[in-house]
Amino acid sequence: MRIAVIGGGVSGLMAAYRLRTILGDGADIVVIERRQRLGGILHTGELAKHPVDLGAEAFVGRRPEMPALLRELGLEQQLVFPAGRTPLVWSGGVAHPMPQGTLMGIPSTAESMRGLVDDETVAMIADEPRRPLAWYPDADMDVYSLVASRFGAQVAERSVDPLLGGVYAGSSRSIGVRAALPTLAAALDAGATSLTHAVAAALPPPSDTPVFGGIRDGYRVLLQALSERSGARSLTATAATRLARSTRGWVVDPIGAVDAVVLATPAPVAARLLRTVAPAAAAAAAGIEVSSSVVVALSLPRNTALPDNSGILVATGEPLRAKAFTLSSRKWPHLAARETALVRASFAKFGDDAPLSWTDDELIAAASEDLATVTGIPIDPLEAVVQRWPGGLAQYAPGHLDRVAEIESATAEFDDLAIAGAYLHGVGVPACVATGERAARHLAARYAPRS
Ligand SMILES: Cc1cc2nc3c(=O)[nH]c(=O)nc-3n(C[C@H](O)[C@H](O)[C@H](O)COP(=O)(O)OP(=O)(O)OC[C@H]3O[C@@H](n4cnc5c(N)ncnc54)[C@H](O)[C@@H]3O)c2cc1C
Repeated sequence: MRIAVIGGGVSGLMAAYRLRTILGDGADIVVIERRQRLGGILHTGELAKHPVDLGAEAFVGRRPEMPALLRELGLEQQLVFPAGRTPLVWSGGVAHPMPQGTLMGIPSTAESMRGLVDDETVAMIADEPRRPLAWYPDADMDVYSLVASRFGAQVAERSVDPLLGGVYAGSSRSIGVRAALPTLAAALDAGATSLTHAVAAALPPPSDTPVFGGIRDGYRVLLQALSERSGARSLTATAATRLARSTRGWVVDPIGAVDAVVLATPAPVAARLLRTVAPAAAAAAAGIEVSSSVVVALSLPRNTALPDNSGILVATGEPLRAKAFTLSSRKWPHLAARETALVRASFAKFGDDAPLSWTDDELIAAASEDLATVTGIPIDPLEAVVQRWPGGLAQYAPGHLDRVAEIESATAEFDDLAIAGAYLHGVGVPACVATGERAARHLAARYAPRS
């Protein structure tokens, strides 16, 4: 039995690994990856002689997938947690504490926004429960339209955008309520009479479990374990260019005939490969847009007087080039122990991919200057590394859930084809791992040895 996994990001590698654990040694699993290396937009580089993650650097630790997977792979000693510091928001040329107790930056109390927004906006939030709310249970809308109409544009631009920018490299204008905030949509569907009440109902219950987790030596540890334990052959620097039906199963150019396929590429590539075999799925996938981003990791003298916060997020409309800084050595205790300080600056977002074309020197200069502006201290990097992610992140626009339902129903007729990836049920690594797991189990239902 020969199975092709198209796309060697974490979704594809998880599918390959789970196929191996279910199907055993008999299966010939081939991972086809367009880039020179596996991992997709997870990539651990090196800075100041230490590993540094240049794509994702964390995961939502309250979801079960990552702790369970690290345990299964015998990597539980790699699981680390942040120090518990909170971020700042740079808005109006001032660093403000990030409001707490919000749902992705959307407040449930007016007081939590005081200082970040003007008094008129605070009054508008306080008054919101008294204003009639029109919400149509089948509808979807962008987050900006909902938040700005109820709480004012400043809340969307100063509190929500910085957080959505971090997750999707997008903004409240490019992201839909249903896909990004499902618990909020559910509260509104259930008849919440105001956004204030809906947010209060949608907030997760208080928990002592840290929200985020990370991997001590970087994501490369996970990628390597998945790749090795999958026992898959990896064809890197090889793009799948065509997927077609054959009597045996599928033909994948350029590798030829296979029995089954996991398609674990970004949405635009899935759309191209599915065009002839599942046109309705292809059309829906083609409707999912992607954004680009750039990460600049800076190594700074250890005594650099960075603020005592996990990061500094930049509000929409600020005259800065960077959109966020992760103060990695403040955020992660295991990085604080290193001999230099580490900061990651992020650039570009949906609708603004200009930084992709800047030179490394320009990006490093912009990261250093903007960091000096937001911290008020001189920034003099010892070393820096730049990573560009063109088309790295799917935009979960209004109507996203319908597009995904269409993709899944139009491909469900095949028991020898499964899809996985960050455009389906969440861009975060745990959600990607879940889609890889599900894709493997979908195929295994046909191929697994019956007991
Ligand atoms: C800067 C940045 C920071 C992030 N931070 C976090 C974070 O802190 N926490 C978190 O949980 N998530 C984070 N994410 C999101 C997360 O990293 C990604 O959503 C996830 O890694 C995507 O995995 P994937 O396998 O679905 O897709 P990808 O990693 O995009 O993998 C798809 C693979 O398919 C390959 N491919 C494309 N076309 C072809 C073809 N024709 N043939 C063969 N191969 C092909 C690509 O080269 C790629 O390797 C971040 C993303 C970015 C860009």
